[in-house]
Amino acid sequence: MHRLRTGFGLFAFYALVTLIPIAILGVLLAQSFRSNLEERGLEQGVAVANSVARSAVDPNLSGATLARGPDATERTALLRAIVPLLRNGDALRLRLRDAVGHVIFDPLAPHRGPVGPPDPEVVEAIATKPVRLLTRLNADEVDTKQPLGARVIEVYTPIRAVGGAGRALGALEIYVPYQPIEASINSSARSATVLVVFGLLALWLTLATISWSVTRRLRRTVETTRRLAREDTLTGLANRTAMADHLRRTLERGSADASITVATMNIDGFAQINEVLGHANGDKYLCHVAHQLCTAADEHDMVARLGGDEFGLVMPDTDLRQADAVIARVQRELLEETELGGVALTTEITIGLVTGRAGDEAAELLRQSGIACRAAKHAKMPVLAYEPSLEGFDADRLQLVTELRHSLESDALVLHYQPKIQPRSGQVMGVEALLRWNHPDRGLLMPGTFLPAAESTEVILPLTDRILDDACRQAAQWQSVGRELPIAVNISARCLRDAAFADRVLATLLRHRVKPHLIAIEVTETAVISDPARAAATLRRLAHRGMSISIDDFGVGYTSLSHLDQLPIDEIKIDRQFVAPLTTGTDAGAVVRALISLGHELGMTVVAEGVEDNATLNELARLDCDLVQGYVIARPAPVAQFEQWLHERGEGRDTQSCADVSPISSRA
Ligand code: C2E
Ligand code: MG
Ligand code: MG
Repeated sequence: MHRLRTGFGLFAFYALVTLIPIAILGVLLAQSFRSNLEERGLEQGVAVANSVARSAVDPNLSGATLARGPDATERTALLRAIVPLLRNGDALRLRLRDAVGHVIFDPLAPHRGPVGPPDPEVVEAIATKPVRLLTRLNADEVDTKQPLGARVIEVYTPIRAVGGAGRALGALEIYVPYQPIEASINSSARSATVLVVFGLLALWLTLATISWSVTRRLRRTVETTRRLAREDTLTGLANRTAMADHLRRTLERGSADASITVATMNIDGFAQINEVLGHANGDKYLCHVAHQLCTAADEHDMVARLGGDEFGLVMPDTDLRQADAVIARVQRELLEETELGGVALTTEITIGLVTGRAGDEAAELLRQSGIACRAAKHAKMPVLAYEPSLEGFDADRLQLVTELRHSLESDALVLHYQPKIQPRSGQVMGVEALLRWNHPDRGLLMPGTFLPAAESTEVILPLTDRILDDACRQAAQWQSVGRELPIAVNISARCLRDAAFADRVLATLLRHRVKPHLIAIEVTETAVISDPARAAATLRRLAHRGMSISIDDFGVGYTSLSHLDQLPIDEIKIDRQFVAPLTTGTDAGAVVRALISLGHELGMTVVAEGVEDNATLNELARLDCDLVQGYVIARPAPVAQFEQWLHERGEGRDTQSCADVSPISSRA
């Protein structure tokens, strides 16, 4: 309806626009025609005057000067010739004027001598050409005593006596009735006007018809162009522009807390289908995928083809978790076989997802889902949700994360153990579990080479679960042989933010029947302050069940203890960077001393990390540091090697001097 109105409106506009100049043209034409007719009417008056002069006046003049008027014979002859003209109405008034314009003969007073003032019109008529005016009878100054009469053509035309050598003796002043001429003008003007009006109306109708059909064709072209600008011609789906517009509008309309998920989907191996089965089959295949996507999508979702083998899906009121169901449906639908060029094909697709809210930029969400899709493709993952760490993603890093994901269930991930001992007694009070990855190509990888990448993705969650599981299994095994050696496990910030993390830890303890005090949690200050409320909730739950909480790398995070005093902290581990220079006589000694006394005041156990030599070890013992950990005691080692170390140093002995402690030689 709207389109109809727009189309009709456009036509009406053109019709009106063309009507205006045509109407103006009509008026101008009618006017010009009329003035033409009037001019011709005046010329007709002149023709009458000339013919009267030539036939009724000139032959009756002798050729002598007319200064005193015609003589008696001339007057009689003139009367005879002129009076019939007046009588039959061909002329309403006739006078002869001398060369300067005095009236020298008037049939109404035939014997009167020259009267009246000179007349410039007479002089002009004699000098140049007959003068004619459209006026009224009695308008001339010699007739002013009489009332104005009918409309007339007043003509002054020279008079010459026959045989008078063509010299003008004066002028004939004649008043030709205008009424018959006017009637004829009016009648001609009327028929001309009718002709013009109908002609122009026909012209306008022709133009309007042309304009109507052109408008219609134009409108159809515009509609097609507009549709093509927003539609993918091959599949009939919305294109990228239309999808971006739709997303923008949905984001504008959506309520603040409603999520909207955008997927960018790329067909795996489409290039091969094109190459092997040809482009025509490739096109059919794209149409098939488009159809399957539409079938799998929800009614209010929008499916679009973003270009090539890339499709888009906008899912309003859907968060990432809800999108999983749609994505699973899409994958299932695409796995249905289709036959193309005699080959049975199923479709696999790589999907990048991102979730936005009202107020987010549509273009930005599209970009982010594209990044997630490309990253997923690279990592050979079927689905990947966008996260900022994917920005400018490093292919190597992503590859590592993918491989790590695949290694989660394998033996390639192992824990090495490094002991913590009392510096004075040498008693082993616990161990720290440190992750190692036996990479098939790259050899033994230290956590620093792969953990930061893992921590930037969700993979850190299952990875930590796996580490905790290994640590609990080990603790259970030691527990079963009567060795109650607490194992500290390092926990990343992302785990602390995960609301379900504490439950999983406790479930793992339960599964392995491990006493909670045998598993300690090591977190860094920065991990805690990245989301203090959630971290505190997680740590409190674990501490409440009897697990010990340790702040790792203490001192490097520059957090004040006041940030931590809300937390159930049992232990602080002074970072290696403060411990290492302890014996060099610099300020580090003061820092370590201060940290030890601070920890003690708060009732915490203080551990010094990275103790590499005996001098440092002795100094820490002197400073009353509770526990020490470092290469000088033992390097992190696989469990068998660590047990061997324990065995060699006399397992079960409670006291051993520091000097007696021999470091474990370790590949680490
Ligand atoms: P961290 O928790 O502070 O672990 C101590 C690190 O210092 C370990 O490095 C250990 O090998 C090293 N170290 C111990 N004694 C000495 C010493 O005397 N001198 C020197 N120079 N270094 C010593 P590693 O194993 O490379 O681990 C590095 C970091 O990776 C750990 O620091 C920890 O933050 C993280 N990490 C290790 N394993 C895990 C894990 O299972 N999960 C998580 N989330 N992080 C882990
Ligand atoms: Mg640690
Ligand atoms: Mg540390």
